[in-house]
Amino acid sequence: MNRIHQLSQLVISKISAGEVIERPASVVKELLENSIDAGSTRIDLEVENGGVDKIVVVDNGHGIQPDDLQLALASHATSKLSNADDLFRIGTLGFRGEALASIGGVAQVTLQSRPADLPCGAEIYCHGGEMSPIKPWNGSPGTRLEVKHLFFNTPVRRKFLRTTSTELGHITESLTRLALAYPSLHFTLKHNGKLMHEIPATAGLLDRIGLFFGAEVRKAMHEVHAERGPARLAGYIANPACDRGNAKLQYLFLNGRWIRDRSLGHAVQEGYRGLLMTGRYAVSFLFLELPPELVDVNVHPTKSEVRFRDAQTLFHLVLTTIRSRLTEANLVPQLQAPDPNAEFGTRNVETSDAEIGMRNVESESEADELVPPSGGQGLNFPQAPVRPYNPEVFHTSSETSSPDGNSSIPNSEFRIPNSHKVLQLHDSYIVIETPDGMLVIDQHALHERILFEQFKNRWRGGTMEKQRLLIPEPVELTAEQAARVLEAKTELAELGLEVEDFGNGTVLLSSYPALLGKKVPATILREVVDFLVTQDRTPNREQMLNGLMSMMACKAAVKAGDRLTPAQISALLEQRHLVNDTHHCPHGRPTSLLFSRRDLDKQFGRI
Ligand code: ADP
Ligand code: MG
Repeated sequence: MNRIHQLSQLVISKISAGEVIERPASVVKELLENSIDAGSTRIDLEVENGGVDKIVVVDNGHGIQPDDLQLALASHATSKLSNADDLFRIGTLGFRGEALASIGGVAQVTLQSRPADLPCGAEIYCHGGEMSPIKPWNGSPGTRLEVKHLFFNTPVRRKFLRTTSTELGHITESLTRLALAYPSLHFTLKHNGKLMHEIPATAGLLDRIGLFFGAEVRKAMHEVHAERGPARLAGYIANPACDRGNAKLQYLFLNGRWIRDRSLGHAVQEGYRGLLMTGRYAVSFLFLELPPELVDVNVHPTKSEVRFRDAQTLFHLVLTTIRSRLTEANLVPQLQAPDPNAEFGTRNVETSDAEIGMRNVESESEADELVPPSGGQGLNFPQAPVRPYNPEVFHTSSETSSPDGNSSIPNSEFRIPNSHKVLQLHDSYIVIETPDGMLVIDQHALHERILFEQFKNRWRGGTMEKQRLLIPEPVELTAEQAARVLEAKTELAELGLEVEDFGNGTVLLSSYPALLGKKVPATILREVVDFLVTQDRTPNREQMLNGLMSMMACKAAVKAGDRLTPAQISALLEQRHLVNDTHHCPHGRPTSLLFSRRDLDKQFGRI
């Protein structure tokens, strides 16, 4: 049997490094936090190959005394904490004295520093935990930290690293969190020698929000302020219309530190209850200030999770603050005429020549989706006024309204060619009289299934038509989102969605699947982004294609609540026979329910 022995310092540091340093972005976070704790006003960050090869942080903070350099790299050595009571009065970002030691254990670190009052600074190297003697260093006041070849001595960890663009995305996210919390500091980020972000000092958070998330998000913001006992809450919350497909844009900070907290995340969503569709998430930037003794920040190695003394009160504070601000801003949901350029837009109906010129169908789509064989003519429909008919995608009810605003489509019973009675109910269900009963169809689920099958068939047959944009459209994303999109570039191209990196989180969209008809191309891409970032693990090629196709089918399908014309209903029903499994939507929900005449008779006690 093996005897018990004390682990060597080297092994200990590698183990603890595993907790704190997961990837290059963790190094960046720790180094930036140290620079902020050192009172810096300007911090320059430079990375190479997603930070895997090299990370350099240069600050103008108070520096480290030459005699302390070795200690700075030693484990459990910190200038920010001296006794156990201090743990409950933490006013700095760091306090565990672990970060530099951990990084030094798994990389090749050079630490150079000069306090402003010394004529000369000093430097030290630490390669995989081995420290060099201290040498003089002639730099300007502040600290420079260089971290090379991360995980060079832990090959297994190295294998877990993802592509350069993903790692860079994580780095940008770390920087974003700190830059949001410290708007008065000037940051820069260079990647492979190229300036990616110049973030000047600003008076307000709003500028930073605009800088990272674009003008649209900035414009949607409402300021919030509240206090309850010793707790203070401030920040911005977005209009519900500016929602997202995941909660990534719900930023929460506690005493200047970004944190993740399930309960407060729920509180945000609860605050928006009734204003967001299911599966949609609000955008918010909330800053909570609490006296340090009311929260334990020492429950997680990277301090991204904390324990509150009174979580309940904070939950209510967040919820009621959001609720009352939304009420005040009169953001109760209203039925609005949809933006003609959004989703199922009427672009096609009233497009100007210029707009048509922008789009150039690469291969002629046979327009066989949901088009009645003769455009609906000659079928036994009640005479609804004839409206321009988009061959690829249904119009929604609002678009089929007559100009005086009244719906021009009688929402009543009609017959389909083989003479069954058909009725649309609640603008959501289609009821058909069948010879031996009745069939109730969920219009969205069925259309989704049909589109999904069409996507699959065309993709298999290599006939996925794409609609090319003559002028590629730049779509602004966060760096992480852009990274995920670019990683999936090949699969997206197979589906007709062609993207190119345009730098700084912007992606150039040059084509999109023709099957998605008149959907706004940027909207398609944003939906794809929402799908990609919610995938926990990197899906394999097949999962990715399947997931994307089912997502696109879902987004392109008619929705519950869309009033359909008889022609559209007939077209939908006709397509039903062309696909293999029309009984379930791609998510597995049933598309139709059959009630047999016999069952009905039985239930009513006739037989
Ligand atoms: P912690 O931040 O938890 O104290 P670290 O390992 O990150 O632990 O850093 C150890 C110590 O090194 C810090 O307490 C601080 O005194 C010093 N230090 C690290 N980075 C800097 C910096 N950029 N400027 C000044 N001092 C620094
Ligand atoms: Mg630190």
